[in-house]
Amino acid sequence: MKVDFLTQFTDLGLAEPILKALTDEGYITPTPIQAEAIPALMAGRDLLGTAQTGTGKTAAFTLPILDAIVKSKSRAQGKSCTVLILAPTRELALQIAESVKTYGRHVRPTLAVVMGGVKPGAQIRTMQRGVDVLIATPGRLMDHMQTGAINLGSVKTVILDEADQMMDLGFLPAIRRILAATPKERQTALLSATMPKAIRALAHDFLNQPVQISVAPVARPIEQITQSVQFLDRPQKLERLVRVLSVPEMTSGIVFTRTKRGADKVAQRLSKAGLAVDAIHGNKSQNQRQRALDAFKKGKTQILVATDIAARGIDIDGVSHVINFELPNVPESYVHRIGRTARAGNTGIAVAFCDEEEKPLLKDIERLIGYRLAVTNEDGVEQHPSKPFTEEARGPAPVKKSRPRGGRNRNRGPRPDGQGSASAGNGNASPKRFGKSKFKPAGGGKPGQSRTPRSTGDTRRSA
Ligand code: AMP
Repeated sequence: MKVDFLTQFTDLGLAEPILKALTDEGYITPTPIQAEAIPALMAGRDLLGTAQTGTGKTAAFTLPILDAIVKSKSRAQGKSCTVLILAPTRELALQIAESVKTYGRHVRPTLAVVMGGVKPGAQIRTMQRGVDVLIATPGRLMDHMQTGAINLGSVKTVILDEADQMMDLGFLPAIRRILAATPKERQTALLSATMPKAIRALAHDFLNQPVQISVAPVARPIEQITQSVQFLDRPQKLERLVRVLSVPEMTSGIVFTRTKRGADKVAQRLSKAGLAVDAIHGNKSQNQRQRALDAFKKGKTQILVATDIAARGIDIDGVSHVINFELPNVPESYVHRIGRTARAGNTGIAVAFCDEEEKPLLKDIERLIGYRLAVTNEDGVEQHPSKPFTEEARGPAPVKKSRPRGGRNRNRGPRPDGQGSASAGNGNASPKRFGKSKFKPAGGGKPGQSRTPRSTGDTRRSA
């Protein structure tokens, strides 16, 4: 489809109440994925989109849905829905619901969010009346289908958001069963940050001659995050963390750990040090997670300790610090983690703690971003400046098979088989994208630290 990137929202034929909401939001120009996807979806086409969070993909599928609701005369019957949106996590489901409410504020569609971690009663009651839009995580939706709380027989549109993440969480069989329960003549859009074979197979089986769109990650201003690494022994980490988070510039921080237990332990230590802290991870109930997020957003808690999976969907402006208490197994997760700071034009500080065992992980990260991080001591004073990463300086590349495979920790970056690589134009983070060409010397940053590039801040994540 030919697209004129000077298109404005007013050129797309969207219904007036939607244009009004976009004006309220201050949106004038569609992002590239919106400029391509909105006309295609409004024309009733299926869509296969390679796009990450940060590209404006949520509005790309939400606006046509709302437009169809405005223009349709029929409303959903009891225990049914017109549009079904599947998302991998509760946080993402809630975030999509927020977008539907925001863009649909003058349309006022009926809406249900169905996800695990909360009691099903309220969800069942909302679906009882029938809803225009049902946003669901696959597991809980299957439960409701089995008990007869929802019937998907009259669904007109299905959106699969972050399909690769759903696959990683083991939802592919559920998705296939859910799609099989919807009418064949539906419209289907599948969005995924990467396009591994299994997702292509899903698209092949359930999409009808889709329009294919691939957009690169949005490059956010690379100067905004001041990154550094501190080398230390594992037992020193908790005390060091208290120190790093006790500086006056620390107004709001996210600490990343690899495990849920680790997150709890860190939160306890910080709390003992008198810091207002909460932990979010997969063992917390949805209500606990939401409460912790709300308190953090409102500034009631200063620090959030999170695992990668729980951090998915966190989009909070004003986070001043991101601390990698433990380095992620998957280098792309580092880029995602630090992307929680410096949002909305702010600056941010990212500090990584690296013990002896984590040095190979650090090397993977530095290879990915194309830099060696500036090394600072416990006072944040620079010992070694940031410089371009070279294989010669850091030894040979790690053997690929040492990378985690399968399950939640699967490497979400470039793969040995080329699936999902940036060269396929699908917008994946790859060593090339973050490579040396984007190197900015340390001089641009604060004294003692260096500034380094960031991607969308929403590359794939682990755990
Ligand atoms: P998403 O990729 O859907 O998570 O969107 C990323 C961010 O971009 C969200 O905070 C949206 O509110 C914002 N956004 C989406 N579309 C536009 C647009 N056309 N103009 C300005 N901001 C937008």
